[in-house]
Amino acid sequence: MAAHQEKKLAEDRKHQNMQNDTKTSQGQWGRAWEVDWFSLASILFLLMFAPLIVYYFIMSCAQYQCSLTDPLLDLVTGNKHLSDIWNRTPMLTYRAAAIYSLWVTFQVFLYVSIPDFCHKFLPGYVGGVQEGAVTPAGVVNKYEINGLQAWIITHVLWFANASCFHFFSPTIIFDNWIPLLWCANILGYAVSTFAMIKGYFFPTNAKDCKITGNFFYDYMMGIEFNPRIGKWFDFKLFFNGRPGIVAWTLINLSFAAKQQELYGEVTSSMILVNVLQGIYVLDFFWNEAWYLKTIDICHDHFGWYLGWGDCVWLPYLYTLQGLYLVYHPVQLRTAYAIGVLMLGLLGYYVFRMTNHQKDLFRRTNGNCRIWGKKPEYIECSYMSVDGTKFYSKLMTSGFWGWARHFNYTGDLMGSLAYCLACGFEHMLPYFYIIYMTILLTHRCIRDEHRCSSKYGKDWKCYTAVVPYRLLPGIF
Ligand code: NDP
Repeated sequence: MAAHQEKKLAEDRKHQNMQNDTKTSQGQWGRAWEVDWFSLASILFLLMFAPLIVYYFIMSCAQYQCSLTDPLLDLVTGNKHLSDIWNRTPMLTYRAAAIYSLWVTFQVFLYVSIPDFCHKFLPGYVGGVQEGAVTPAGVVNKYEINGLQAWIITHVLWFANASCFHFFSPTIIFDNWIPLLWCANILGYAVSTFAMIKGYFFPTNAKDCKITGNFFYDYMMGIEFNPRIGKWFDFKLFFNGRPGIVAWTLINLSFAAKQQELYGEVTSSMILVNVLQGIYVLDFFWNEAWYLKTIDICHDHFGWYLGWGDCVWLPYLYTLQGLYLVYHPVQLRTAYAIGVLMLGLLGYYVFRMTNHQKDLFRRTNGNCRIWGKKPEYIECSYMSVDGTKFYSKLMTSGFWGWARHFNYTGDLMGSLAYCLACGFEHMLPYFYIIYMTILLTHRCIRDEHRCSSKYGKDWKCYTAVVPYRLLPGIF
């Protein structure tokens, strides 16, 4: 009798454990359902200070020749008051508002109205209608991949204007840099607020929404997973790629044009920054279909973090090197410039090859060759919200056998090269490598937490085989 009861209890426990396991994989996959105090404190900090940080950097270039310490010293010693700095800051102008509205409208037009034609004549390029990854609700979204085309059209028009038409000066972006900052902020806040309201009242896919009930967390991290207007206007794909990343190379070109105007030449450091960041941007658009499988699209919900971040943080802080070089035109020694170029190209190679290896591995379901051999991997499984079981694989060879995020390591090498191109006189250009180190380390931990919730014990097996995160033998 006792033996029978014990057997039944054991069976009940097993059943309960299975249910709990299922709940964990269903409930925790994707962004968090609950907010811990540390996340909340970080979010409040960012909401309050991120716009000020951007303003501080841009203002210190405009008013203090890019010195990060002089504004603080002026304020602390009473030499200047906040109002003095603010009064010298250019305000929003009609001209900037018109430029910015035209720019965003043009990018929306390129995104929604011109289906991709690049994939029809560029061998190896994947464009046109492509599928994203399975969402936690089990949905597979379709995307119109036409970012490369938008980038090419925009830049052809830019160069046509600079060399033939002369409708506006190529220094237009630099000349309106702070008034444009106010426009970018207005759009960033407007789109994040709209996304929050939309998430509550008319979400694109209610099953892929997450509401923690904490206003700040939901505003920052987003409610909707893939908000859309109509069939094709996808907020995440649009705001991250354009106006943010298409603008990146244009902004750098405008800074180079300003150097030419001020000093009669474009310095080697400015060319290096334009070339290295140009490669990174072009790579992004060449691989836009791959981008659909990255964390931004696969896991992050659309809130202030992406909405405001793409409109303000990215175009203003990722371009600090070019801005700095307008105020400090650095001519590099040839050997040094070649060293920086090599570091940048090596970083890019590691970044691209690591991403490519995972993409190839996942696309072919492991039926490919990595470094001339069949890839090694761990089989894993996970559940979507409706309880459907999916199977996947985690590669343990190639760069993915060296470390769990060697793609981030390559990215960091490239980022360091941009900063080194600016010499060693000021801290400001080095903000980027500090920021990227924090961003990618945090992202790595965030991603691993999510993968662990998604794959459970299979993830543990994977981390046992590939024990390091970014640097083999160190971290
Ligand atoms: P990854 O491309 O590394 O994607 C991580 C995901 O890949 C995981 O969630 C998991 O997803 C899957 N995965 C993890 N390990 C393996 C494995 N061993 N084999 C197969 N699949 C695996 O991360 P990101 O999306 O963050 O980054 C993409 C690139 O973008 C990186 O190179 C990064 O440097 C860059 N980046 C640049 C930024 C910038 O601001 N410049 C910002 C962010 C990223 P799944 O659930 O499918 O298993």
